[in-house]
Amino acid sequence: MTSVDTLIKSAPGDTCSPALADGPWTFDLGLPSYGPGASQGDIIPTGSPRQGQLPVEYQRASTEELHDRIRVAKQELGDRVVVLGHFYQRDEIVQHADFLGDSFQLANAAQTVPNAEAIVFCGVHFMAETADILAQPGQSVILPNLAAGCSMADMADIDSVEEAWAQLAELYGTEPDESGRVPVIPVTYMNSSAALKGFCGRNGGIVCTSSNAATVLEWAFERGQRVLFFPDQHLGRNTAKAMGVPLEQMPMWNPNKPLGGNDEQGLLDARVILWHGFCSVHRRFTVDQIEKARAEHPGVRVIVHPECPMPVVDAADEAGSTDYIRKAVAAATEPTTFAIGTEINMVNRLAAEFPQHEIFCLDPVVCPCSTMYRIHPGYLAWVLEALVRGETLNQITVPDDVAEPARVALERMLAAKPRA
Ligand code: SF4
Repeated sequence: MTSVDTLIKSAPGDTCSPALADGPWTFDLGLPSYGPGASQGDIIPTGSPRQGQLPVEYQRASTEELHDRIRVAKQELGDRVVVLGHFYQRDEIVQHADFLGDSFQLANAAQTVPNAEAIVFCGVHFMAETADILAQPGQSVILPNLAAGCSMADMADIDSVEEAWAQLAELYGTEPDESGRVPVIPVTYMNSSAALKGFCGRNGGIVCTSSNAATVLEWAFERGQRVLFFPDQHLGRNTAKAMGVPLEQMPMWNPNKPLGGNDEQGLLDARVILWHGFCSVHRRFTVDQIEKARAEHPGVRVIVHPECPMPVVDAADEAGSTDYIRKAVAAATEPTTFAIGTEINMVNRLAAEFPQHEIFCLDPVVCPCSTMYRIHPGYLAWVLEALVRGETLNQITVPDDVAEPARVALERMLAAKPRA
């Protein structure tokens, strides 16, 4: 077992919040918080979905009882339901998932089950929205806990991006240059709301993942003189830097300031305008942690996620998506020591799965993703048992006027294969 609960027991006093030991329902009462974990200091937008109180019977049930109830409900529902689990989910959830993967793989997995009436997405809100956009007509997508958002996705909202776009249009105009490239192409990371994916679809833009970000930037540079990249500054910076874009041509856009806090010349010279967003999980990784790992484990192989800050990516041996990390560990033929910079549930699962290697998380403090933590077997049992009764709870529905352009941007993403 490598669940949050077990992690806490195995490392008493070494967690980022004592509240991690509480059930996620403790935080469902409209509190303005993502809950304990890496995002606990971030500000949750007032319009974010709230989760109503989980019925008490699910809060009080033992873990074993919940597992039994989930198994029985899944058996009764058979092929009518499919459960998707993200790599960052706790083990008590992952053990019930029909598919395990990153957001991109799960979006694809959702498309491979056209006969399932319901897709229960054990991940976060933007992933369930994407699954709904790509789902078959008549399929419902369910997020077991509506408060499972993503603090990074919440850092770029549609109003702020529309406002930035208007300011940039005023500065650049809208006419293409002599090679037919428009002044700016919007690129949104998969970790963003459906509204932003729709914005990109409407404005000649595209969605990227951490696997295909370089291919997507190439696609965008063929069509535009520059890119507005949101919400993750780090993925944008790390990817563009690796492609040779100088840092001074990557200004940051702060949505609370006129021109994003830049002067006109800086924006005219820009190749990639980076939105002021970040992942609070990956921001915890530091160069000091890497130096300590190297000092204590000579020969250690350090792999980090590209949502980590640039100095961390530069100091690591490799950087790549969760899928890249998993494949790198699986492909190692000799016993190897790995120090990994990504969410702790995934790192500990890798350690359990590949005992021939020594695998540890670069961050010594147990601090999972606050919003992934919100999905607990109690909520999974609740939504599955409701489906057995013919009730659909917590359905995520993207309106057609958003879904249609978002699908355009997602299809462009699907066509942009990761670099070999
Ligand atoms: S790990 Fe970071 S990007 Fe992923 S869901 Fe959590 S806050 Fe969002």
